[in-house]
Amino acid sequence: MLMRGKCHCGNIAFSLTWEPDPAQIPARACGCSFCTKHGGVWTSNPKGALEVTIQDPSLVSRYTFGTRTADFHICSRCGIVPLVTSTIDGRVYAVVSVNALESIDKKMLNRAAADFEGEATADRLARRKRNWIADVSFR
Ligand SMILES: [Zn+2]
Repeated sequence: MLMRGKCHCGNIAFSLTWEPDPAQIPARACGCSFCTKHGGVWTSNPKGALEVTIQDPSLVSRYTFGTRTADFHICSRCGIVPLVTSTIDGRVYAVVSVNALESIDKKMLNRAAADFEGEATADRLARRKRNWIADVSFR
């Protein structure tokens, strides 16, 4: 399955290859202080391949807070946050926003709350290595 998403104005676009075709797509409503404020809901497949296309990099703001191990990629033109990356041991891992997906069958979304508040940083990074998309390219 090839899933496509983008911010509202199209400056940040992505395509995610998800093999085999998923019966359900996990949709984690993140309970961190930032995602609570902007309504962040994320998905990832550790075996997926993500390609991110940025039209104008000067209109992408990277926001980080707390443990400063995750970069939220915010389109500074339209305010949408299509993806988050985390660089661990020199490798870039990512999750993408379920809300930024285009033409996805909403019935496929398996929505659940996720709260990682208080998780130790080492545990946090290990979890991302297990669950986040490990094949990420930017162009
Ligand atoms: Zn935008």
